[in-house]
Amino acid sequence: RAKQAGGGRAAFFEQGMGEAAEQRFRLERELRHAIGAGELRLHLQSQVNVEGRLTGAEVLVRWQHPRDGLVPPGVFIPIAEESDLIVSLGEWVLAHACGLLAQPAFHERRLRLSVNLSARQFRQAGFVPQVRALLASSGADPRLLTLEVTEGLVIEDFDDTVAKMRELAQLGVDISLDDFGTGYSSLAYLKRLPIQEIKIDRSFVHDAPTDADDGVLVEGILSVARHFGLRVVAEGVETQAQADFLSQRAPDIVYQGYLFGRPEPDTQWLARLVPAEALR
Ligand code: C2E
Ligand code: MG
Ligand code: MG
Ligand code: MG
Repeated sequence: RAKQAGGGRAAFFEQGMGEAAEQRFRLERELRHAIGAGELRLHLQSQVNVEGRLTGAEVLVRWQHPRDGLVPPGVFIPIAEESDLIVSLGEWVLAHACGLLAQPAFHERRLRLSVNLSARQFRQAGFVPQVRALLASSGADPRLLTLEVTEGLVIEDFDDTVAKMRELAQLGVDISLDDFGTGYSSLAYLKRLPIQEIKIDRSFVHDAPTDADDGVLVEGILSVARHFGLRVVAEGVETQAQADFLSQRAPDIVYQGYLFGRPEPDTQWLARLVPAEALR
């Protein structure tokens, strides 16, 4: 086969490419099976306010692969996004997140859940009706659900984005702009987007206390968010210095990061919240 392909380095290169493509193809096939086979898991990462009170969690999907172990979303979400798979995967995540949110513990303590959306999922014609149906069938309070979208999704089709966000707002669902500051959208978009929250990307949070440039960027984001009345979540908070930098400038900020807890299996997160007998 190497000879036919031209031999030498070119053949070696092609063979390498073939393996990567094969691996991708295998994962795609296995992922298609995984969704129905119950191999997906939800992990939750706590969000807390500056007083240390729990305000909710972000839902992060994992794949419990029978051979490869726990596969992180960075590996399989891009594969799912290249096919229609992301739609059924996204629906699975949303349905199960609504199921969690319907647990009395969320309602009683007014704890929120944030769910990540892919562009392809959000663009589906039936997306908003699907959210409405999943909320209704689960009994979850729409006002406790936040959907996270990225800047890339927003600029892709601005009019459709705004229309869908308005419909979701009518349901009572909040929209958060994830990884804020890393995309190419202009600050002017914020003026026209019906969103309720932004998440400062962890790359800015990381260096804010030590790098003057990142510090100024974070201050700018906080000031813009305050002006527009947006809730702010800081992602990737790992040190007390980062938390202090943020709370000194935004006392109503919400932290998410290893300093306050790693993502953990949903059952484990819930068990810490309520005694086992209280779980429905
Ligand atoms: P994201 O939405 O920005 O999620 C935050 C990521 O940062 C998570 O990675 C989380 O584990 C990680 N993280 C949290 N705190 C810290 C910290 O203090 N330090 C550092 N270094 N990292 C921290 P994860 O779980 O691997 O997820 C990666 C990405 O995969 C997510 O980024 C999100 O874009 C995507 N993703 C996860 N679940 C879903 C899903 O259900 N649907 C879709 N479409 N995408 C998802
Ligand atoms: Mg997110
Ligand atoms: Mg993020
Ligand atoms: Mg990020």
